[in-house]
Amino acid sequence: MADKDEIQTSTDVERAESVREVLGARAIIALVPGSISLVLGVLMAFLYPGLLQGLGWVLLVLGLGAIGYGIYALRQTREVKAVNIICPYCQAENHFTVHPRNDIRCVDCSRNIPIRDGQVLQVYQVQCGYCQHLNYYSDKSSSLVCENCDSVIPIATDEEAAGAQVLAQFARREDNDPYDLVLLTAGPKPEKMIECLQHMLALNRNQVKQIIAETPVTLMTGIPRKKAELLSGDIRQAGGRAEINLTETSEQGTS
Ligand SMILES: [Zn+2]
Ligand SMILES: [Zn+2]
Repeated sequence: MADKDEIQTSTDVERAESVREVLGARAIIALVPGSISLVLGVLMAFLYPGLLQGLGWVLLVLGLGAIGYGIYALRQTREVKAVNIICPYCQAENHFTVHPRNDIRCVDCSRNIPIRDGQVLQVYQVQCGYCQHLNYYSDKSSSLVCENCDSVIPIATDEEAAGAQVLAQFARREDNDPYDLVLLTAGPKPEKMIECLQHMLALNRNQVKQIIAETPVTLMTGIPRKKAELLSGDIRQAGGRAEINLTETSEQGTS
């Protein structure tokens, strides 16, 4: 999401994975030379005492120190605690060492995850009015550019309401309005249509035949658009034609 919020995206939180990586690398850097130093030190100090004995002791102590540090770093790696932030767009888990105070970028979908007061803000879906691509915005969004076609999707921000609202004429929010499914024609394959509607409406043969005889007929009312689209697809499959209309109610809550 090419969002203006990007500018504020914080870099002060560290990904738990990267912290673990750094600690792990440090442990290896300490452990490998530490072990070599220890072995050399033991050889020189105990097995081949002589001129190099003093140096052997130095190596031995250095080696022990490095190994000690390496083990410490390894233990820390395990103790890196992860704050788990679930991406509101793709549900991917993002791990951080501390609770992020500002927006973060999702590891999986690269979208900006809006954070306010340590909480992931709710995101809303909005369909691009130009290409129908689904975009997301949150209460923090002040502008929105379509991920797909780069068109500007206008959002009116209202500081008082602390909310962003998309101007309905350009883009429409994933609607929760109720819809009607209307059967226009049963099509050339009445048997298939009867079967389809029996299944869809859980009615018996005669009831379904009755319904088909009355086309155009409203099959269902007050169902979500998604469901209406799905069912109208089933009807098309069975050779018929259906229409989806906004359910007419007294109160049209457009928020
Ligand atoms: Zn994501
Ligand atoms: Zn678009």
